[in-house]
Amino acid sequence: MNFDLETAIEAVAAIAAEHAVAVDRDAAFPTHTVNAAREHGLLGLTSSAAVGGRGGTMRDAGRVIERVARECSSSAMVLTMHYAGTAVLEAYGSEAVRKEVAAGHHLSTLAFSEAGSRSHFWAPTSTAAARGDAVQLDAKKSWITSAGHATAYVWSSRPMAGSEASTLWLVPRDSKGLQVAGAFDGLGLRGNDSAAVTATGVAIPAANRLGDDGAGFGIMMQTVLPTFSMLIAAGSLGMAEALAQKTATHAAGTTYAHMANDNALRDLPTIRAYVARMRVKVDMAKALWQETFTALETGRADAALRVLETKAAAADTAGEVADTAMRVCGGMAFRKEVGVERVFRDARAAMVMAPTSDQLYDFIGKAVTGLPLF
Ligand SMILES: Cc1cc2nc3c(=O)[nH]c(=O)nc-3n(C[C@H](O)[C@H](O)[C@H](O)COP(=O)(O)OP(=O)(O)OC[C@H]3O[C@@H](n4cnc5c(N)ncnc54)[C@H](O)[C@@H]3O)c2cc1C
Repeated sequence: MNFDLETAIEAVAAIAAEHAVAVDRDAAFPTHTVNAAREHGLLGLTSSAAVGGRGGTMRDAGRVIERVARECSSSAMVLTMHYAGTAVLEAYGSEAVRKEVAAGHHLSTLAFSEAGSRSHFWAPTSTAAARGDAVQLDAKKSWITSAGHATAYVWSSRPMAGSEASTLWLVPRDSKGLQVAGAFDGLGLRGNDSAAVTATGVAIPAANRLGDDGAGFGIMMQTVLPTFSMLIAAGSLGMAEALAQKTATHAAGTTYAHMANDNALRDLPTIRAYVARMRVKVDMAKALWQETFTALETGRADAALRVLETKAAAADTAGEVADTAMRVCGGMAFRKEVGVERVFRDARAAMVMAPTSDQLYDFIGKAVTGLPLF
């Protein structure tokens, strides 16, 4: 089958749009979107051609997430975590696992956040201990997107030996001793199936280690942080774009019948200024996002700083634009049919996902004033 990225994206976005309201209403996992992504070759998008993948770039994955997020943010979240997990698998997984990912037989995610270290994902407190040819994992993971649907988790623990911060593992979801907490019933991203997962004496093959013992922190910083940040930013920007468009449409089409010429909301200068500011904010954050891809692709010295800036700017832009959308669309925005309140709820999540916006501003502030980040 000939692969055209734009065609595949539009096909998957159409499925995401069809099911978005039900996914939110029922807190249902977006299975239809994931199946469509598999069918159209997007689950293996960033796998290399050498293992049967599409050889797509992080920027390509960003296009997928941004477009899907305009329709269904839960779908975009699930795909974001898939691409974040598979970035690690592509770099450190076995050839067999990489082939499974490339063929779309794998749904990945990250299992980093823990009850102990919370949003400080770089400092897990969970353990890994050698047991012959196996490794025993014990953990209280606090949030895993796609917890009940992923094929396997990219998992962090303390190292088996030494004083480094962490080691990464590939942990099959059906491993004995893994317990997924109940269904997700959150404010937003209601279909993303984020749950706490407990590991009690879980045994996995020692060969499931991703990178060296103790190398987890480096992999988090070099592989996971850029991918996760740029793609969660893509989701925020897709939501922000949807909000800007829906609000402009509402302002253009909502009229006051008692006024001359059926005056629309857009005939009010205050409303026009709000809509204009939304447009400016979204376009500014999108420009930074695209420019950061260029910084990463060309290996620019400021790329890492730009990545931190982009996640913070995109998450906070989505939050601010969502606040304005609720104000401009008025009482109507409280009801489901305008389509703003769902995105308003969904847009709150990125700013508290680690690294959170507040952590990012602290890191950026440290970097630009010459302090060490950790
Ligand atoms: C919908 C959703 C899906 C998620 N999916 C995943 C997933 O798939 N995998 C995964 O590993 N995790 C996931 N997470 C978890 C997420 O990344 C965070 O770890 C989690 O939201 C932290 O919540 P907390 O209340 O424990 O944060 P806390 O650590 O208690 O933070 C509370 C507040 O303190 C602030 N704060 C903390 N430290 C600092 C600091 N140093 N400087 C400034 N402010 C600080 C934070 O910004 C935040 O506002 C998900 C979260 C959500 C909401």
